[in-house]
Amino acid sequence: MKPLSLHELVNYAWQHSNFYRELWKSKGFNPEKEFRSDSDLKKIPILTKSEFLSTSAKSRSILNPEDGYYFTAISSGATARPLISLQSRFPKPSYYRFIESQVKGSRSSVLILRPASHATAFLGATLPEKYFPPGSIFSIGDIVNYSVSAHIAKEIEADSLVARPSDAVRFAAVLEQVGYSLSRITFVWITGEPLTSAATSLLKSLYSNAVIFYVYAMTEGPCSMGMKSSLCSSLDAIGPGAYHLNTEDFIFEIPEKSSIVTALHKIPTPIIRYETGDSMTIKENFQCSCGFPVGTIGIIGPRDGESSYKIGGCLFRVGDIQKVLKFLPELVTTDFILRIEQKIINNRLENHLRFTVRPIGVPTDFVTDVIREALKKKLYVTRSRTLEDAMRQSIIGRIEIDYNVALNGSSILPPDEILTPFQDVA
Ligand SMILES: [Zn+2]
Repeated sequence: MKPLSLHELVNYAWQHSNFYRELWKSKGFNPEKEFRSDSDLKKIPILTKSEFLSTSAKSRSILNPEDGYYFTAISSGATARPLISLQSRFPKPSYYRFIESQVKGSRSSVLILRPASHATAFLGATLPEKYFPPGSIFSIGDIVNYSVSAHIAKEIEADSLVARPSDAVRFAAVLEQVGYSLSRITFVWITGEPLTSAATSLLKSLYSNAVIFYVYAMTEGPCSMGMKSSLCSSLDAIGPGAYHLNTEDFIFEIPEKSSIVTALHKIPTPIIRYETGDSMTIKENFQCSCGFPVGTIGIIGPRDGESSYKIGGCLFRVGDIQKVLKFLPELVTTDFILRIEQKIINNRLENHLRFTVRPIGVPTDFVTDVIREALKKKLYVTRSRTLEDAMRQSIIGRIEIDYNVALNGSSILPPDEILTPFQDVA
């Protein structure tokens, strides 16, 4: 699948997409009159995520029998309503082609340790583009049962693993328990959670025989927007959010904070000047240690206006935390800041939490204990685990609580190393 020019893309959407035609008309944009050349990009109205979400996946999509089949890509459910997009294929980016050539050993037996809803989209859309050699074996593991998944990996003699960073780290220990050597894994595809330097360095030491491939993508996009690998020490030195940007398949605009992307492909729901919500900075002419040709890199920062944050196998929701604080009306208000850091403790990946809350009276050690216990028992960080369960399983390490009487509002902050480069513009 070759990228289109912006002009071809705009014509395609105008002719075939009811969604874009109606959106653009409602914003007074008529490409037949106002779009003459690719330099007219900025005349196209920006599409927000809420506009995108206001229409059902089917009614915002151009369904064409020539595409073959559509697979649903589903966002991880961080929003109340999951974001569902239809995909027929993911064009294979040039960085992926580069990294395939770097994998020593086989890439033909793949364990996908992702929820079934993700795994179907992954398979359906990557197979037509031959992301893995024809003749490969695929199996979908069970993310809530690592032990069964490890036995499957052993049975199919998996050489490739697709997983979130936290799952890949925790799964490594279980693979070793069932007697499957991690050195048999030569390719690891990591997606689905923001990266930290703790996670990348732990993955590198656990899967030391593998090329580890990291993807920055969005459910509604046709392929990865950013990529890097365990060979990219130069990107690691910049920070965990740095990626080679896919400027062949996307146009990136960084007006202030949130990036705006345009995907140069005929996909069911074209992505044209779509506001991602992710803050980003861009550097040109970057030479990386991995050997990929000099090009553009992007540093991905925090997402704007999100009421939840997913990291290290946990999902933290502002509303859920407020509900717990509401149980303690004599002690605290529902205003809080949650700061999350990821650390390596005894070769495990742990989330460390620091809650700053607004006290009603004078906080004592006793008050701190009461708040901590309430959070441990009442706050769910996965569908089936409370904070206390997650601590027992060393998914969460420490919980600190401190106080700020001037606190106003509630927010969850990503790890400092992701936040810091963006703080001066916040
Ligand atoms: Zn690189």
